[in-house]
Amino acid sequence: MMLINICIFLILSVNIQPKNNKPFKKVDMNPFITFAGARFDVKENGESTNRYIWLHGDEQTARMALEHHIKKYQGIAFFIASKTREVPFKKTIIDPNRIFSRRGAYHALRKFKPDWGSTVLENALDELDEERKFFLDILMPAQGGKLISVHNNFRGYNVHKEKRRSQKISIKKDQNPRDFIICTHIDDYKILERSPFNVVLQNLPPEQDDGSLSWEALRRNVRYLNIETRLGYLTQQKKMLDFVEKNLK
Ligand SMILES: [Zn+2]
Repeated sequence: MMLINICIFLILSVNIQPKNNKPFKKVDMNPFITFAGARFDVKENGESTNRYIWLHGDEQTARMALEHHIKKYQGIAFFIASKTREVPFKKTIIDPNRIFSRRGAYHALRKFKPDWGSTVLENALDELDEERKFFLDILMPAQGGKLISVHNNFRGYNVHKEKRRSQKISIKKDQNPRDFIICTHIDDYKILERSPFNVVLQNLPPEQDDGSLSWEALRRNVRYLNIETRLGYLTQQKKMLDFVEKNLK
């Protein structure tokens, strides 16, 4: 709880006293927030309502692309402090992009701890519910703002695997199918379908919510964009971020 208080203090510059009444440590390093035991470093540039997030520690190209981007453009970017995809949580590990719903978190926890009893599991899910509320209140952009996440893929994952969940699809002949954008708003899609990049529109809830951030953004009617490229294709990912920044107002 204290970390959350610190983070709110640092980000919003509001004077919230920690519960134990000790003064805040002088924190000269980057502000951060925590969620599910993971720390997210926060980099802020200017006043824009745009929010950005890098969620998977093993997707280093996406981190570099976002670090470059947030120096150049305004908004607030959240970087997970991890080198691995899953992060430690209690006595297990968890995928940070599978815990944005209780259902998703249930399956994410069961994946690594199928033997956890129902009390332990319920307590962990209650804790995640509580933390998620704080985290999302800070992460989500104000009305009209965009939430942009950056990801990389390693092997088989590509735009064709998203077809089933998508309402509209625009695949470009000269683009690698592993580089693509997922968006949740039709107006953004209409611009992106005329871009050089592969894009799909996902503006209806899925049959089964897997706990990824995109579905939570959809529930909140937030303009969400996932910019996905092959690991190592930094120039491509920077170009896609640039296009979104310059063309989606
Ligand atoms: Zn990812």
